[in-house]
Amino acid sequence: MSFERTQEKLKILADAAKYDVSCSSSGSNRSNATKGLGDATGMGICHSYTEDGRCVSLLKILLTNHCIFDCAYCVTRKSNDIKRAAFQVQEVVDLTINFYRRNYIEGLFLSSGIFKSADYTMERLVAVAKKLRLEENFNGYIHLKSIPGASDELMKEAGLYADRLSVNIEIPTKEGLKLLAPDKNREDFIKPMIKVKNEIIQYNSEKKLIKSTPKFAPAGQSTQMIIGASGESDQQIMWTSDYFYKKFELKRVYYSGYIPISNDNRLPQLGTAVPMLRENRLYQTDWLMRFYGFDVHEILNNEHPNLDLDVDPKLGWALRNLGHFPVDVNKADKHMLARIPGLGMKSVHKIIQARRFRSLNWEHLQRMGVALNRAKYFLVCASNDFERRDLTGAQLKSLILQNSTSKYQKILSPQMNLFG
Ligand code: SF4
Repeated sequence: MSFERTQEKLKILADAAKYDVSCSSSGSNRSNATKGLGDATGMGICHSYTEDGRCVSLLKILLTNHCIFDCAYCVTRKSNDIKRAAFQVQEVVDLTINFYRRNYIEGLFLSSGIFKSADYTMERLVAVAKKLRLEENFNGYIHLKSIPGASDELMKEAGLYADRLSVNIEIPTKEGLKLLAPDKNREDFIKPMIKVKNEIIQYNSEKKLIKSTPKFAPAGQSTQMIIGASGESDQQIMWTSDYFYKKFELKRVYYSGYIPISNDNRLPQLGTAVPMLRENRLYQTDWLMRFYGFDVHEILNNEHPNLDLDVDPKLGWALRNLGHFPVDVNKADKHMLARIPGLGMKSVHKIIQARRFRSLNWEHLQRMGVALNRAKYFLVCASNDFERRDLTGAQLKSLILQNSTSKYQKILSPQMNLFG
């Protein structure tokens, strides 16, 4: 294979892979115990993102952009008139090793269109990972995209060589999936997820008895949803996430704002803006659910099915629930401290530690890094001067937005006049 041809394939297949955002390399602990090539230890802090927020620290490519399916939202779908290419297994192995040696990458993120069948494609993805581990002694990070409908045997083998496995559920609702990807079936996503979950459970229990039990997908599994392609509400999206987190013990759900790529009356028109801000608010909500003890129904419900774009979801919740405030930072439990807008979990822990020795006042809180421009409306401490407490949620929101230096201020400034 000529160098030029490989370069051309790389251009096509790296470009096609850029629509997949689920390539965070957090959570792996595969160390270089064999004195081989690479070391994924500590990869949790090795992210590198492009300006639009996409991860670039991994060689991120498709094995092929040929596909037998015709999902409306996908640039790779079979009816799209685009340049097609396919790598040989050995080509991906060589590219990965080459890039790794030059320090361009820390690992590989490999996905693929489906050619011939799910198993035929999955077999090749697994072969890449297997060759890298066994023949090249590669200890860098490997994230394999699982092909919906792949057999249990192949999923089991994939987990022996990959750090992370993921299957994209693509569209948050069954109805949306049926409309936009009629060839696909939700069960085909779920089956490999169940297999991976069960194998991880089995690995964790066997390793307690036999230390040398081969690792299985040590960075767990994740999934991705496309946002804004099928008219679903934020409430529907976050209930889907909640279900998948709980049912399959996922490490991450990624939210990818739909990029209009074709003229199809089932989809937003060409030229429609990518919902970046909505994507960001969904990530914040996801974070609140995983680390701040919020349930979906508290943030999103039938009265409030979509997230506010002008304020973050924690502030939005606080403004709708002023009855829970002000919270006394010198007395409140961790659960309530975590709900004060402007307080991150680090500050919560600092407060709990520090208040054992003294009563905390504004100065202490400021030194701990609390964002007082928001927090001051929602807490009391050992100081006498407090913000007004007689404002409604809408008035408070307006006041906070007026004083906000948020990067979204510009985007939202026409809307914010409504609150003036
Ligand atoms: S199966 Fe995957 S690659 Fe093929 S058209 Fe659907 S989303 Fe795109």
